[in-house]
Amino acid sequence: MRKLGHEIAASLLELFLPASCLACGQPPVREERAVMLCRGCRNEIEPITEPLCTCCGQQFRNSGGGNHLCGLCLSDHYHFTMARALLRYTPPITKVISRFKYHGRTAALKTFRTLHEQIPVPGLIDRPDLIIPVPLHRKRLRERGFNQALLLARAFYPDHGSLIDFAVLERQRYTAPQTSLSGKARRQNLKKAFRVKNSEVVAGKRVLLIDDVFTTGTTVNECAAVLKKAGAKEVAVLTLARVD
Ligand SMILES: [Zn+2]
Ligand SMILES: [Zn+2]
Repeated sequence: MRKLGHEIAASLLELFLPASCLACGQPPVREERAVMLCRGCRNEIEPITEPLCTCCGQQFRNSGGGNHLCGLCLSDHYHFTMARALLRYTPPITKVISRFKYHGRTAALKTFRTLHEQIPVPGLIDRPDLIIPVPLHRKRLRERGFNQALLLARAFYPDHGSLIDFAVLERQRYTAPQTSLSGKARRQNLKKAFRVKNSEVVAGKRVLLIDDVFTTGTTVNECAAVLKKAGAKEVAVLTLARVD
């Protein structure tokens, strides 16, 4: 309750204080208000562009060629059909995401929504049957007060609220934060972490999973595996940012 009170106070402050850049705090000029980033920070944000891996969405550097599968995806590493992200996970967006996620700066959602409108996402399925945010365990949900993936899903798809289902996929195990682990430990950590509560809801559906950051893809891959097992026809992934 105390935390919630703090967040409401923070949101109220944001209403009355003059807008400041979400990354560096400088006041943005009028035309930059839509993204709430000053010109310098807006210019430093790096949208992911082609050529990229048609499966995991990794951006290829200094490649004059077209899109193709990366080495990892050639070996059928992932359970999802495709993963796409709007931005590279580099400063200053790293700072904006961390303030949003860990300090409740939900004003950033307006920015994320605008970036989603402005940045093309090549090859992503355009008419999913179901939009599912990666769930938090209820203990973490209580600690944080909100699920960032759900808020992102609503910001990205403001007109498709009826497609967003935040209950059907459940995080049943409280796990260590993935950021503290690497490689195999990440996969071990998430074993049996997710379950589908009602497979009828996902059976035969084209699902779009939403998360904030794609790091190694372990989390969304676990979710995709569980959803596919429950009968989902296809699982695609959209994240706000992606680690190279
Ligand atoms: Zn700035
Ligand atoms: Zn790939």
